[in-house]
Amino acid sequence: MNLHILIIEDEPAIAENLVYACHEVGILSTHCQFGQAGIEIVKTQPVDLVVLDVGLPDMSGFETCKQIRTFSSVPILFLTARNHEIDRIVGLEIGADDYVTKPFSPREVVARISAILRRGQHTPTAKIKPSPFQVDEMERRIQFMGQYLALTRYEFLLLKTLIASPQRVYDRAQLMDMVWQNAEDTMERTVDAHIKTLRRKLRAIDPHTKAIITHRGMGYSLYA
Ligand code: CA
Repeated sequence: MNLHILIIEDEPAIAENLVYACHEVGILSTHCQFGQAGIEIVKTQPVDLVVLDVGLPDMSGFETCKQIRTFSSVPILFLTARNHEIDRIVGLEIGADDYVTKPFSPREVVARISAILRRGQHTPTAKIKPSPFQVDEMERRIQFMGQYLALTRYEFLLLKTLIASPQRVYDRAQLMDMVWQNAEDTMERTVDAHIKTLRRKLRAIDPHTKAIITHRGMGYSLYA
């Protein structure tokens, strides 16, 4: 589907489950923990839908929603922990498209997301930006701008990890954990070396690509 959704949720376990469930159905997702950070992402990135937790550390989901609505009509799906919050979502016209009550199954949320996006496809405000990447999980291959990349096993796993959460900045230790799970002698420069060969392969297809971004002192992300 090549959709991009933003998950604003401060509980890591919930966010991780959602990221994974989205990835399973081919929806790219970005995760952030703060309302303010989420607002910035909606301002600067193409986002097809926002999953928004009501209880966030810096500002409430309601306030976050209100601010997003001042400049964007992106669909918003609320995650709510308490029943009395639902009254506010439904009762006040804050511009939410739907809500799910915790605890929920990630699949249920993905089904809601798909339903909202299907509805939105008929409105002119819906903007769906295709990703240049296509991951073929079964064949363990990745296409970039319609062309297959010749990747080694670890290059495939590394790029797949970055594609799953565009804009998320991974430090080298996280990438080592996620990609080189069983390799005991991995070193941080192994990550750098693989990033380098991946960039070379992407540039062979698009010489000007800035798909993989280096964040000095932090790590790497797909896109800025
Ligand atoms: Ca919360």
